[in-house]
Amino acid sequence: MITEEKKEEKNLNFIEEIIEADLKSGKYEQIITRFPPEPNGYLHIGHASSICLNFGLTKTFPGYTNLRFDDTNPVTEDTEYVESIKNDIRWMGFEWKNELYASDYFDQLYAFALKFIHAGLAYVDDSTSEEIAALKGTPTEPGKDSPYRNRSVEENLALFEQMRNGEFPDGSRTLRAKIDMAHINMLMRDPILYRIKHAHHHRTGNKWCIYPMYDFAHGQSDSIETVTHSICTLEFAPHRELYDWLIAKLEIYPSHQYEFARRNLNYTVTSKRKLLQLVQDGHVNGWDDPRMPTISGMRRRGFTAASIRDFCDRIGVARRENMIDVGLLEFCVREDLNKKALRRMVVMDPLKVVITNFPEGVTEMCHSENNPEDISTGVRDIPFTREILIEKEDFMETPAKKYFRLAPGKMVRLKGAYIIQCETFVKDENGEITEVHCSYIENSKSGQDTTGINVKGTLHWVSAKHAVPVEIRLYDRLFSVENVSIEEGDFKDYINPESLEIITGYAEPALADTNAGDSFQFLRKGYFATDTDSTSEKPVFNRTVTLRDNWAKAAEK
Ligand code: ATP
Ligand code: MG
Repeated sequence: MITEEKKEEKNLNFIEEIIEADLKSGKYEQIITRFPPEPNGYLHIGHASSICLNFGLTKTFPGYTNLRFDDTNPVTEDTEYVESIKNDIRWMGFEWKNELYASDYFDQLYAFALKFIHAGLAYVDDSTSEEIAALKGTPTEPGKDSPYRNRSVEENLALFEQMRNGEFPDGSRTLRAKIDMAHINMLMRDPILYRIKHAHHHRTGNKWCIYPMYDFAHGQSDSIETVTHSICTLEFAPHRELYDWLIAKLEIYPSHQYEFARRNLNYTVTSKRKLLQLVQDGHVNGWDDPRMPTISGMRRRGFTAASIRDFCDRIGVARRENMIDVGLLEFCVREDLNKKALRRMVVMDPLKVVITNFPEGVTEMCHSENNPEDISTGVRDIPFTREILIEKEDFMETPAKKYFRLAPGKMVRLKGAYIIQCETFVKDENGEITEVHCSYIENSKSGQDTTGINVKGTLHWVSAKHAVPVEIRLYDRLFSVENVSIEEGDFKDYINPESLEIITGYAEPALADTNAGDSFQFLRKGYFATDTDSTSEKPVFNRTVTLRDNWAKAAEK
């Protein structure tokens, strides 16, 4: 009962519970975790969740987390990816204790392989991959022994050395563990430990032409680093038996593997392989395209590290796979930006308003808070002149019921400035409204209003003369179906053709000079971030997220 209460109070996930028990029982004094990316792409939101889990555990409990590049596949790996991964983890707010590479253990792993051969626990198999597969059996039928299974230790040693020396072509031979071809777990049916691959490795160059398989590298690397809790995703659960077997037979440090469910987000894909295709086929403008679920894409779009951490915290750690609603991520982003983003005014679909009783050629400074959620950010100047711009949708010739914006005879407040009243409007030959004429109410300036007039609507606006044209990139979901992976055919068929719209907006002067990554709330429009393409000649803003969840609203209708 007491433990139950405590559990609730601290809200431990199942991995934290295991660790707490291990520390309490004295099994460990501190824990060591690792984040083990393969440097074959940029990190995505799924990795973010693994990062928060692994690094988070050693913030909660005594110990540390290593960054280990799982670089045993020379063909797909690249130093560009290594750099981006380090950059992304740091940006997420975490620091690793040691930067490690599985490739640094290639000599050690080779020695482990020799040890296995000497112990009669591994053999060189001359079978092709097809021949190996044909003898593998099925989950219900046992496999059959390879004709090469009973080679002598001497013969295996000689052949393995020849493999290493580059005397055989790719795919012609493998080193296999000698376990049991009738094992219930198919992964235990003489798994391949080494394969031949004549390929340049991003770190070891051409030193090796044989490379260890995942199963003969991951657990061994964990053990070399004395990782206590090796956390991976569920698909590796069947590998755990082999993980334990290899460590036991090698008589090395016993790391333990724990599995949690992959975190998948709807309306996108979280697989580096698929994301790479989107980049290579030009569906997006690079790994950091703001529509990508990569950490670099989300950063460029304006998501904050704090909001991504909050999201990962809220989805927690589960034992079963499920789809997470991107709406939750966007909610976390809004929560954080509401506290941090400076407020600015940008008109996206302009309609000219002439303040007929305001003198021509005069600029009056108005003031508005940078962020009402954080008064320490102060106020900014906003120029007010006779001609201003408002949104077209903020004027209606014949207003609908409950329309509290501008209409003939109606009053609204201009944010930070005066109350204005609409007198008349001008139409062109096509019947389109081109200009609205208003008068401003004296003594109604924000903060100094003595009129006692109550208006229901407040509009954002900019002075026409001072307006800065800016490029605005409006993003929508990258895919138009919720679960891309269950759809038939090519996943790229489901790309949302309207995931990017580029428009020109008219911004208040305070937005003329901003730095890439700066976040703003464009009043009544959403949160926006300065893009890396932005210059003072041509400011560019990404819409990070709308103010409300438009998709949820559409679903309600
Ligand atoms: P991908 O299919 O995108 O390449 P991966 O699992 O092959 O994913 P790795 O670079 O091998 O990518 O993963 C590094 C770590 O991140 C692993 O521990 C992996 O389990 C974890 N990880 C990867 N994708 C997810 C995900 N969607 N949710 C949670 N953890 C993930
Ligand atoms: Mg992988």
